Amino acid sequence: MSALAKQNDAVNLSQGFPDFECSIKLKEALQNAVMSGFNQYGPMQGIMPLRESISAKTQKIYGRFYNPDTEITVVPGATIAIFTAIHSVVNPGDEVIILEPAYDCYIPAVELCGGKCVFSSLVYPTFSINWAEIKSLITNKTRLIIINSPHNPGTSVMNENDLIILNELTRGTNILIISDEVYEHIIFDNKTHQSIALNEELAQRSFVISSFGKTYHVTGWKTGYVLAPEALTREFRKVYQYNAFCTFTPAQWAFNTMLQEEETYISVSGFYQKKRDKMKALLSESRFKVLHSAGSYFQLLDYSDVSDESDYQFARRLTIENKIATIPLSSFFHNKKDHKLLRICFAKEDETLEKAANILNSL
Ligand code: PMP
Repeated sequence: MSALAKQNDAVNLSQGFPDFECSIKLKEALQNAVMSGFNQYGPMQGIMPLRESISAKTQKIYGRFYNPDTEITVVPGATIAIFTAIHSVVNPGDEVIILEPAYDCYIPAVELCGGKCVFSSLVYPTFSINWAEIKSLITNKTRLIIINSPHNPGTSVMNENDLIILNELTRGTNILIISDEVYEHIIFDNKTHQSIALNEELAQRSFVISSFGKTYHVTGWKTGYVLAPEALTREFRKVYQYNAFCTFTPAQWAFNTMLQEEETYISVSGFYQKKRDKMKALLSESRFKVLHSAGSYFQLLDYSDVSDESDYQFARRLTIENKIATIPLSSFFHNKKDHKLLRICFAKEDETLEKAANILNSL
């Protein structure tokens, strides 16, 4: 959709990336790292000062200690973290439970290593988790459950009860968990992010994945990290050693500088909550229904009062004729299920949001 947006000179609310700049402090930190000569391969696990800072941050906000030496790996973005984690534990014939709508990199990675995806739908329209369905899908072949909170594209967040149920369902089994928490610092209305790291038993069977790209407005820097107990980290690194080996060194030093001040990540939720509220207010008179976004930098728009077209046709037409690009939600379902919903990204300058709202309000 981004390519189509470019071709048609459309306002681009499709792909999830900010159209504003990151902080000067972060840019300077990167520049300093480059100019100071931190330009060669770093250690496979990531530079130690950054791993120590990640460990300290995790302990501070989720109360769990991850050993920087044996339980934390810095990687070139969450996508490769997810791919690597899947490839380190899924064998041919293993079943992996995927909650749909699902971020698009889960299914191909499972299929590439011969795993079988088993699908559970999040409950429309809140996109909360249907635990009864998940329970019914668990078999002795279930190897992995992939969860994601705050959720892209559903914009829902897990609550304390979700963690309790997940723990009950997996206790005494060999099921592992990948918890995609790239939007951990973008959660609204004073809710607390329910990281897997909060729960002792769950943490023992989980890969917890985060991405600095989202937190610090630099998706193009592709830097993230994985928290996992030692045995899982060992397996993870066996694959990672050969599919990437290490991560862009200067960015690691730059993020380490940022992590020294907790305000740099604590302030992100408030920043995006204002954007969410602004977009909702701008669309209040439109014929689109704005679904509640509890986290992430996305919102879902119900267009059923505007058009009968499929979400794919409608999104294409909006891009080409009305010059606004969005993502049809059906693209996040393996069977292309259509709920007449479009996903928009509000990680944009206020001016971009106003421009977009003008177009949407005219429909
Ligand atoms: N998971 C989710 C839910 C995402 O939205 C994204 C980015 N769009 C990723 C993973 C990938 O993050 P990264 O850019 O760090 O690879």
